Formats: sequence, structure tokens, C-alpha cells
Amino acid sequence: MIVQPKVKGFLCITAHPEGCAQNVRNQIEYVKSKGEIKDSCKSALIIGSSTGYGLASRIVAAFGCGADTVGVFFERPGDAARERTASAGWYNTLEFTKQAEAAGLYCANINGDAFSNDIKQKAIEAIKKSPKGKVDLIVYSLASPRRTDPFSGEVYKSVLKTVGESRSDKSLDTDKGEVVTVTVPSATEKEISDTVKTMGGEDWELWIKALDEAGVIAPGCTSVAYSYIGPKLTYPIYRDGTIGMAKKDLEQAAERIDAIMKMHRGKAFVSINKALVTQASSAIPVVPLYVSVLYKVMKEKGIHEGCIEQIQRLFSTQLYNGNFIDYDDMGRARIDNLELRSDVQDAVFSLWDKINTGNLYELTDFAGYKAEFMKLFGFGVDGVDYSKDVEI
Ligand code: NAD
Repeated sequence: MIVQPKVKGFLCITAHPEGCAQNVRNQIEYVKSKGEIKDSCKSALIIGSSTGYGLASRIVAAFGCGADTVGVFFERPGDAARERTASAGWYNTLEFTKQAEAAGLYCANINGDAFSNDIKQKAIEAIKKSPKGKVDLIVYSLASPRRTDPFSGEVYKSVLKTVGESRSDKSLDTDKGEVVTVTVPSATEKEISDTVKTMGGEDWELWIKALDEAGVIAPGCTSVAYSYIGPKLTYPIYRDGTIGMAKKDLEQAAERIDAIMKMHRGKAFVSINKALVTQASSAIPVVPLYVSVLYKVMKEKGIHEGCIEQIQRLFSTQLYNGNFIDYDDMGRARIDNLELRSDVQDAVFSLWDKINTGNLYELTDFAGYKAEFMKLFGFGVDGVDYSKDVEI
């Protein structure tokens, strides 16, 4: 089948198998070019391993550290009869598996709801069957709009709203390429607590407890979960909004999880990462416009990074290679340091007020944003012949 992009809002409902595979191979090549990461993990569990930061973590663990990996994700297979492609994360995982196995690394994939007890048990079984039988790295990189409580069966949905006052701000209609004003309404108490329940730290803690009880945490094991803070510009919708409340809950959970990990002479912490184009971030109001400006400024300064560069830097300069984590005063790792550099933020801020639909391509890297967005689904990748029939 010849696969074409079909974009609907902040989603592309098709994905190109060969483009996704090439993206994975490019990330593997980047990691290999940076050399082996010493004193590092040898057996990793990545929860949310099929796209974005989780996929990058799996690639760095495998091809930078030489680790066996168990990946957990929620992806859709292709359906040739109905001409429906698989989701991008499905194709990414297929290629990752092919490359990892060719490199002699153990690789197990669990496709299903990571919030459920069943999937946690399946991951534990896969770890027990792996050559080392335990994990020495646990990455928690889920981004999900809903969560079914594994004990009560109740479904919680996260919302992207403000806490307190509603807020009007500049945003981007990414379909039309127009700068618009959006009013983000304020959340009810229930919406806030449901968002915390969905994207907060409860599930990370449940994972660690389940792994601990099953005896599959190796001595010295590290667990890391990813979070975002960003600039004051996006505080009302992000850090001080419903999603920020969930992220604060995740950061608090890190302290409790760290206490469990210490019993294994290990540690747990949250890493604050940079704003990037991923399937999760493109759904947040204001953020796509901010990211478009940020990309322009960081590219001009020669300090732009994607998921793979961020995670390779975290692993090689903080987590491993005989280095130490450079914690901030809240006990978090900061790889958002380049994004938040004052010269970068001053430049973003000075452009922000001037941006309108007419100068969007001139004052921001919206072209780069769109290209990155399409690449998430395997489109516009160099070296791929899109006119060719592909197996979906
Ligand atoms: P993403 O959408 O690219 O990846 C999400 C992953 O979670 C995928 O592997 C998906 O399959 C998996 N997933 C979702 N629901 C699941 C479920 N119910 N069961 C199993 N797997 C499920 O997202 P991302 O942007 O890489 O985000 C990962 C983490 O990084 C999030 O915690 C996010 O807040 C954080 N983060 C993102 C950014 C950013 O700008 N994108 C910045 C800093 C931190």
C-alpha cells in the first residue's frame, strides 16, 4: 500500500512503516556515534517505550549502554484488510526489536494498558525470563489522557486547563498555520484531582511496589520519571495548570519511591526535560507556538536538541560514565538547562509579542515544527521513497 499522511488536528491517523523504521535507525546511529556509556545499566524496563522520550530512553539503554530491555507501550497494529496502518509506536518498536536482536540484546515487548495490574505482571514475567532476571534501570515515560484505576475500575480523564482564573493567550492553529487567541478555561476541583490521578505519581509508585514485591529490582537500580517545567510564559497552562499539578504529584512520589529504591542501594528521581514536539506535547494549548519560537532560537544558537540528544546527555553526563546527577534544590535532574538559559528565554520573550499569522514563518520555526510533527509518524524522513508500496 502507498501510505499518505492523514492529519486530524494534533494527530496523524496514518503512519509510514519505513519512515518510522528509518527514524529509529537514525536515533540508533546517533547514540552509537557518541560512544559506549560506561558503568551503566545492563537490563532496563521502559514504561512508555514506543515514542518520544521513552523510545529515546530505550535506544540509549540498548545501544549506548548495551542493555537488555523490556518495553511497555499501548500501540495499534496495522490492518491490511481495512487498509489501516499501525500506529507510529508500533512500527518504531518493530524496528527497535529487529535492531536490538541483531545486536544480540534481549528485547521483550508488552503492548497493553500500563496502568493495569495485568500488564505489570506481564512485564514482571518478561523480566524474570530475561538473561539477568532483574532490572537495574526503570524509566517511567507515560503520557496518557486517561487512566483506569486498577483496583476500582473507575476511569479518570486528564484535562489541560488552568487552576484558578481562566486564561487567554496566544496559540497556534497548527492545521491552518494561524496565530490565534485561545481561552483556556479553569478546571473544577474534580478535573484537577482526575488529572493528578491520571498523570501524577500513583501509577509509578504502583509499578515500583509491584517490581519490588516480585523481587526483580537489581541492587543499585535507578528509576527515573520525566517531567516538564518550562518558562513563566507557559506557567498558567502548564506548570500552574492541571498538568502541572499532576507533575508536582509525580515529583512528590519520587521521594517515596526513592525510599524503596534505597533499600536496594539504588535511587529514584525526576528528570526535567526540554519542550519538544511529541504526540503528547502537540495537544497542549500555547505549547506548539512556544516550541516553534524555542526551536528557532535554540537552532540559531546551535544548542537545539531532540529526545535522543536529551536522553543521551542525561545518561552519559549525569546518570552513568562515573558521573553524578546534578540535582537542583528540589532533588530533580535538569536537562532543560539550555531551554531555560536566560539568553534563550530573553530571545523567545522578545519575539513572542511580535508574532502574528503574517510573520509566523519568519519569527518562528513553525516550518521545523511541522516537519518534526510529520516525522513522528514517519513522513518526510530523508532516504525514504514514499511513492513505493509498503507492507503495513
Ligand atoms: P509520547 O506521547 O511520545 O509517549 C508516550 C508513551 O506512553 C508511548 O510509548 C505510549 O505508547 C505510552 N502510553 C500511553 N498510554 C499508555 C498506557 N495506558 N499504557 C501503556 N503505554 C501507554 O510522550 P512524551 O512526550 O515522550 O512524554 C513522555 C513523558 O515525558 C511524559 O511524562 C511527559 O510529560 C514528559 N515530558 C515531555 C516533554 C515534551 O515536550 N514532549 C517535555 C518534558 C517531559
